[in-house]
Amino acid sequence: TRVKVEIWQEDPLSGMAVIEEVLAEFRRIDHLMSPYREASELSQLNREASAGPVVVSDELFDLLEKARQMSELTQGAFDITFASVGHLYDYRKGIQPSASALQAGLPKVNYRFIELNPDDCSVHYSQPGVRIDLGGIAKGYAVDRGILLLQQQGIEHALISAGGDSRIIGERNGRPWNIGIRAPRQAQGMVAVLPLTDVAVSTSGDYERYFEADGVRHHHILSPQTGRSASQVQSVTIIGPNTTQTDALSTSVFVLGTQAGLELVNRLGDIEAVIIDKQGQMHYSDGLQDIKQ
Ligand code: ADP
Ligand code: MG
Repeated sequence: TRVKVEIWQEDPLSGMAVIEEVLAEFRRIDHLMSPYREASELSQLNREASAGPVVVSDELFDLLEKARQMSELTQGAFDITFASVGHLYDYRKGIQPSASALQAGLPKVNYRFIELNPDDCSVHYSQPGVRIDLGGIAKGYAVDRGILLLQQQGIEHALISAGGDSRIIGERNGRPWNIGIRAPRQAQGMVAVLPLTDVAVSTSGDYERYFEADGVRHHHILSPQTGRSASQVQSVTIIGPNTTQTDALSTSVFVLGTQAGLELVNRLGDIEAVIIDKQGQMHYSDGLQDIKQ
């Protein structure tokens, strides 16, 4: 994932040092939570937590609790155990699971199988064959950590983005920051540019990681109910107070689709959404009706 850190402050040298610190923080989180690193705490969980409780760091435990809250809020649209079938896909190689492999894996998709014990920060999977992946929330978490680091260094104007997750504080040289929403079916192109200050913005799209087979687009956001790519919309952009939330919500609303997604967002006080449905039509949450033209 491409990570971008932009800060506005007087002294360029200390600026470069603090940017280096943010990038180191991203690397630290990747080492902790990547499913592609055998030594990560997350990989250890996937190897051992079905056999019995595994004690993890407070940090990973807290994020697992946040993921659970997101699952409850979205009635299971967000579910990190999607990985029980998610690992059967290889988007780069164009590989998808057979119907029988999918049927075997699907019963292992259920966030309730993850037992979290706050007394000792241990995690137990109550079923064999369960796997988790934090790809729908960890980048947002990393961006929040980066912003916290900048704030601790006294920086008041900055943007950090990692893939589709961005958070901004203050202004960009006295003006709002411009955050673009990509046109899902164009290589370049934006459908909207939002002038923003002090918010988090995440976009989930079906154009980031995908392959096509038999006219079906197989991409990296899966419906926990079917184990197949969610197909109701092309992209979802969520605006909110922090990227941990907006990242998880963009993935969730993508799974929920336009109607259920907007209902959820409109219920949440501090969250807004722009959804591009499968016809390419744009939909806005209640708080954004006035930017619609
Ligand atoms: P990106 O990673 O491109 O920023 P998203 O924020 O939408 O996109 O996250 C997609 C990632 O979320 C997938 O790569 C996968 O790791 C994870 N994921 C896919 N489906 C789900 C789901 N139903 N619930 C939770 N996480 C999911
Ligand atoms: Mg997301």
